[in-house]
This record gives sequence, structure tokens and C-alpha cells, in this order.
Amino acid sequence: MIRLVDTHNHLFVDEFTKSRQALASAVELAVDAGVFQMLICAGDWRSVLRTHTVAALINAGYAAGIHPLSFNPKTYCTEHNLIRDFIDQHLATSTLSAIGEIGLDGTITDKIPMEFQEKVFSDQLKLARDFQLPVSVHVRGAADLVAKHIRRIGIAGGAVHAFNGSLEQAKIFINLGLKLGYGGACTYSGSCRIRKLLSELPKDVLVLETDCPDMPSSIRRAENPEDAHSMPRDLRMYAEVAAELRDVSVEEIAEQTTKNAFGAFPKLQTLGAVKKVP
Ligand SMILES: [Zn+2]
Repeated sequence: MIRLVDTHNHLFVDEFTKSRQALASAVELAVDAGVFQMLICAGDWRSVLRTHTVAALINAGYAAGIHPLSFNPKTYCTEHNLIRDFIDQHLATSTLSAIGEIGLDGTITDKIPMEFQEKVFSDQLKLARDFQLPVSVHVRGAADLVAKHIRRIGIAGGAVHAFNGSLEQAKIFINLGLKLGYGGACTYSGSCRIRKLLSELPKDVLVLETDCPDMPSSIRRAENPEDAHSMPRDLRMYAEVAAELRDVSVEEIAEQTTKNAFGAFPKLQTLGAVKKVP
């Protein structure tokens, strides 16, 4: 049986938690497909609480933080303080393993100006630094700015989620001590740059992720073009695509990416296996 780690998903969302049965089925299929551990990422205060609950139920790791898209100027300070207190209280006693999902998104600056995003991102990085936690970082159209803040504040590792940048950007993040996350995008034959990098990057920088329910694979898109979602079990498919692109066995990809995931998020290794919903 192979062991895979999903380094970034959103298993707390309604699609998976609308009923105990829905969650039980998603987790069971994932475990049966080889998913050994995962990092469930929140994006605001409310989702931190939901993520904590789901993670506790299945012995999964989780991440707390404020996503660039979730910035709300009215509640930001309160949310940030609540999350800080929450981490303080739960770090030692729960499966809290990282700060995430945090980052910068250059494509939403009409909704959330970059100056606000940078303020939120540096606050989240300082949380990571203060609690010595790795980060799960969202980077879209803002690689240089993300690298600048990480370099300025300093962090204890982690991963760039759904990496889709250039080789030069990959090198910058690798030099900052981050792994690079690959998932649904690598299943599209048209994703030439992503597939090329996935096939050529050093093996010790790659981690796998589903970002579920986001970033559906080409297969899920073909099944349901209007409303495609990814599932936790899709991680197995991504491992198979990565193995094919790198011309190695799926067992080898699983072993290497799991080792890398534990390197990026050490607490995930201490948790043992995800448990099926009791
Ligand atoms: Zn995400």
C-alpha cells in the first residue's frame, strides 16, 4: 500500500461536511486510495474552527490563517487576534501543523488592494515565525512580493501551494526553504509549463496536494464540465501523473513526496495515519 500526503486541501467546506456520511465517504475513499495524512487549510476565523473540528475527527493535520481573498477590513483585527489566541491554546493539544492558507493574489487587487493583502500576509508570516510553524502559501501573480516578505520575516519552511510559476521563481522559493505543491493542474495536457517543471525539478522539492474541492483534474472536468470538484482521493491520480512525467514508479513518487511533505510540515509525521470517520 502506498502512503501519500495531501499537503493542501479544504476538507472543512460544506461539500464534504454537509453530512457525516459525506465526510465518511470522502475520507474512506481517500484512505483506500493511499492518502496517509493531509493538511486541511482554513482561510479565516470561522473556517479555523470548522477545520479544527474536522481534523480532530479524522486525526488529520490542519492549518490556521487568513487567505488573501478572505480579507474583511471590518473584522480583520478581531479575526487575527482570535486566530493568534487560538493557536496559542491549541498548538500543543491539537493537530495544528501550519499557518495557511496565506499569501498574495495579484489577480484580485480590484477587490482587495495589494497594500491590504501585504499587511495581512506579513501578519500571518509573523504568526508563523512566532510559533515556529511552517506555511502553506497561495501565490498568484505576486511571486516576487511573496518572496520579498518571506525573506524579510523569515519562516520555518512549508510549501507553495499549486505552484504554477517559472523555473526562476521555483528556484527562488526552493532557496527560501519551501517545497512546491502539485495537483489537479498537472493532469491537463495543455499545462505545458507546469508539467515540464514537474518532470524536471529536483525530487526533494515536490509535494502533492488536491486543494479539494478546488483545482479539479481534467478527468473530473470531463465528467462534470459545469460543476467540477476535486476529491481527497484524487491525490492518487496526481501521484500517477507525476510518476509518468518523471518516468518513475508511483511507489517511488509516493515515498519521495511523503518524505518531502514531512520535511515541510514535520508535525504531520508525528500524527500517524488519518482515521476514517468513526
Ligand atoms: Zn487552497
